[in-house]
Amino acid sequence: MLDGIPGAPVRMRIDISGVVQGVGFRPFVFRLATELGLAGFVCNAPSGVVIEAEGPADAVQDFADRLHRDAPSPARITGLTQSPAPVRSVADFAVVDSLQSGGGGGLPLADLATCADCRADIFARRGRHAGYAFTACAVCGPRFSVLDDLPYDRERTALAGFPLCPACLRGYRDPADRRFHAETQACAVCGPALSLIFDVIPRQSPAKAAPITASEAVRQAPISAARHWRIAMPICRRVWPMPS
Ligand SMILES: [Zn+2]
Ligand SMILES: [Zn+2]
Repeated sequence: MLDGIPGAPVRMRIDISGVVQGVGFRPFVFRLATELGLAGFVCNAPSGVVIEAEGPADAVQDFADRLHRDAPSPARITGLTQSPAPVRSVADFAVVDSLQSGGGGGLPLADLATCADCRADIFARRGRHAGYAFTACAVCGPRFSVLDDLPYDRERTALAGFPLCPACLRGYRDPADRRFHAETQACAVCGPALSLIFDVIPRQSPAKAAPITASEAVRQAPISAARHWRIAMPICRRVWPMPS
């Protein structure tokens, strides 16, 4: 329990380590703090996530308890420390820039399969994600295969060279959007495009047509290679019975 003058605001710093970057953890913390009427901030750090929460003592303690209980499913908290901090009398809660120092030990996350909402965006008839292969959000998409370093921010991923378009930027800044602070989001306007290369003669294919054309190529030639972000994967068509 937090001590203090009854009714007076308290402020608590919470350091969390584990798999807490790239899993929608900062948006989760932001929404939880806002729901409880707390002020303060959350940010990524080399060690994980750092939070300072300020408000009535019971609400701050409730917040700390729910961080563990209600964390998004891909997250894995391996350490959580709480310490009192000086009250700053600020009004809002914010997601702020990552800390560049403060220890290491943060754990990178494996890539996350495309979620149902993003699949719906991809198969929608229209929209900037319609037919777009690299659609992702705060709870899905590439993580480990694009990550250069922690803390997990777009500038330290393979997406660094693809600035967000105005529409993606609006979602990135909107707490109500599921792409709020989704670092590896991209769309057909601002993100990487697919290209299909036949043998050694590169022939560009329109980005949206590339997966379909590639599947046709695999049907024609049993072995192909796909380059997903930085990793090349061989794709083989099963041939049965095996040729003698
Ligand atoms: Zn998603
Ligand atoms: Zn975009």
